[in-house]
Amino acid sequence: MKHNRVLIANLPTPIQKLNNLSEKYAKGIYLKRDDFTGVELSGNKVRKLEFALGEALKNGCDTIITAGAIQSNHCRATAAVCAKLGLDCELVIKGNEPDDFEGNIFISSILGANINYIPKDGPVDEKMEEVKEELSKKGKKGYIIPIGASNAVGSLGYVQDMKEIIKQEKELGLEFDAIILTVGSGGTYAGLWYANQSIEKPKDIIGFSVSDSSEEFTSDIKNILLDMYKRDGVSQEEIDESSIIINDDYIGDGYALSRPEEIEFICDIAKSEGVIFDPVYTGKAFRGMVSDIENGKFNEYKNILFIHTGGLLGWTKNQRKMAMNKSNLKLRNY
Ligand SMILES: *Cc1c(COP(=O)(O)O)cnc(C)c1O
Repeated sequence: MKHNRVLIANLPTPIQKLNNLSEKYAKGIYLKRDDFTGVELSGNKVRKLEFALGEALKNGCDTIITAGAIQSNHCRATAAVCAKLGLDCELVIKGNEPDDFEGNIFISSILGANINYIPKDGPVDEKMEEVKEELSKKGKKGYIIPIGASNAVGSLGYVQDMKEIIKQEKELGLEFDAIILTVGSGGTYAGLWYANQSIEKPKDIIGFSVSDSSEEFTSDIKNILLDMYKRDGVSQEEIDESSIIINDDYIGDGYALSRPEEIEFICDIAKSEGVIFDPVYTGKAFRGMVSDIENGKFNEYKNILFIHTGGLLGWTKNQRKMAMNKSNLKLRNY
C-alpha cells in the first residue's frame, strides 16, 4: 500500500566507525547516527513521525495528540514537528508538573505544546481520547499517536531506515552481520525486523530493553508486526518468535533510573570515542552490547551496526550530578 509521508528529517544519517572500540575488540563497530535526524534533536522519533504525520495530514487533522513520561523524547519530538508544520500539539504527560522544568519537558513547552498532566499510572489512552473529544467540540480535528509512535504507521520510519542502511552498505563496501538497538516501546525494532525479512541476506537484529521484560517486548513487537502485515494486505497469521531477539539484562534499576556504573560507562565512551549516549536509552543498550562482546556472545559477528537513536536532552539533574561526581573523583585520584 502507498504510505503517506512528510519529509522533515535530515536523511540519510551517516554511518561512522568507532575506531578505538573496533580496534579493542577486533571487529568493525559502527554507529548509525540517527541522533542526527534533526528537528531539534529528535533522534529516532522523527523517522516515525514522518509517517504518523503523513497520515494525520491526509486525514485533515489540525492537532496531534500523544503521550509519554515527563522526559519523553517522543513527546518533545512531536512538539517540534507540530511547530514546524503549523499544527497544534496536545501532550498527555504521566506525572506531576515538575518544579524545575528541565530537559524535554522544557523544550516541549517552549515549542508551544499544551501539556495535560495525569497521574503516573493514570489511563493514558482514555485521556488522549478525552482530549480529542474536547477538541472536536471546538470544531478541531485531533489525531492520536500512541506512546513512542510504536504502531504499524510509525514503524514504517524504520522500514525506510533499513533500506537506507542497505544502500549505505553498498557505498561503504561492507556488510553488517548484526544490527543492535535500544528498545523502549518496540516500534524501531519492529520496523527494522519487518524490512529485514525481504532483504537478500537477513541480519540478526538485537534489541536491548530499557524497561520491560524480553517476553513482554517480544509480544508487543509481534503485535506491531502483525498490524504492519495487515496494513500491507499480506496475510500473515504467525511470526517466528525466535527471530525477535530482545535482551533484558541491562535494564538496571528500571526505566529512566541510572546506576553509577552506567553513567561511568557513558563518560568513558565519550572520552574514548567523542560520542555521547543518553542515560535512559542508548547508554544502557550500548553498555549491554559492549558487555556481550566481552562475554563472547557476539564472536560470530565481524561487523556490527549500533543505531544511535538520540536522547541527549534526557540527561536529568541527578544523572548529570552522577557524571560530575565521577570526574571529581578522577581529579582527586591524580
Ligand atoms: C524512544 C527512544 C528509543 C526507543 O525506541 P522504541 O521504538 O520506542 O523502542 C530509543 N532511544 C531513544 C533515544 C528514544 O528516544
